[in-house]
Amino acid sequence: MKKRLKSIILCHIFLPFQALAQMHTDDMNYWIEKYQSVSYPLKSIHISSSYGKRADPFTGKGRFHQGIDLEAKYEVVFAMFDAEIKRVGYDPMSGNFITLKAGNYTISYCHLSEIWVKEDELVYAGQELGRSGSTGRATGPHLHISCRLHGKIENPYHLLTFVRDTQLKAVDALGLNKDVKLSPEDFLRTYAPQAMHQQRKYGIPASVILSQMAFESGWGTSKLARSGHNFFGIKASSRWIEKGLPYSIHDDDRENEKFCNFSSPEESMEYHSRLLMSERYRRCHQYAPTDHKNWLRGIKAAGYATNIHYVRSCEKIINRYKLYKYDYLASKT
Ligand SMILES: [Zn+2]
Repeated sequence: MKKRLKSIILCHIFLPFQALAQMHTDDMNYWIEKYQSVSYPLKSIHISSSYGKRADPFTGKGRFHQGIDLEAKYEVVFAMFDAEIKRVGYDPMSGNFITLKAGNYTISYCHLSEIWVKEDELVYAGQELGRSGSTGRATGPHLHISCRLHGKIENPYHLLTFVRDTQLKAVDALGLNKDVKLSPEDFLRTYAPQAMHQQRKYGIPASVILSQMAFESGWGTSKLARSGHNFFGIKASSRWIEKGLPYSIHDDDRENEKFCNFSSPEESMEYHSRLLMSERYRRCHQYAPTDHKNWLRGIKAAGYATNIHYVRSCEKIINRYKLYKYDYLASKT
């Protein structure tokens, strides 16, 4: 195995990029296996509550949330890694739960409605384990995941980013993401529904969201967008870092700056909306969601971007692709 890895690394360093297309079957299999060695616990990941301090959904009092909640309405849950089923059971807090053991980690899936595996069973990454639900202490259906490393509680988000990074690396190595670049039209078709959703929720023009997203991420091609779903160049605040949330380091205005990593484009868009809802951007809040011009000026004036052509660049995108139509559409529906 070691030898194989060495040949892959050598191939990456010395061979021109096109040569990857003629990758050796062994190497291809290695990366395919690598890709399949991990899995997200659900088909798609939307975090509804993160790890750390939060108001308890039942009592409203401050309480440490020892895991993360993922949106899941009675959906199939998958093993994240090759693992052994350590425990299957029920308790009034977790409801029906499964605990997996993978290396030095134990991972628990809680509030399940159905369990399809037995204790001591060996499962592989991506194997179906059961169905999410709302058993135990839950206000509604979702999947609560918690994890321990050597018995000590940890933020499971790190496991989710590990899954993502492993799969991205494999996709990269296999050359599958060469056509990942969406045309502007496809990009807008992909993200416009969510942008309109954000407009209805917060009053921020969908056109502003989409133009910032396209401009900041180079239509989704930036490293920050591809590897961290950060489409807005959002820097990681000290609070973000203290909470143990994931970030990556890139050179922007200054060298070695820390940027937030998100689990999906939607999460990135939600974070961006909340940022614009903060006190700092209060000047914008007086403008209608159909007034993208004033919104953009207000955003720039509050110091969102340092680029002096920022407003003009975003406006160009809005006009060229007639993004204002989404603003009208969202205000009517
Ligand atoms: Zn939870």
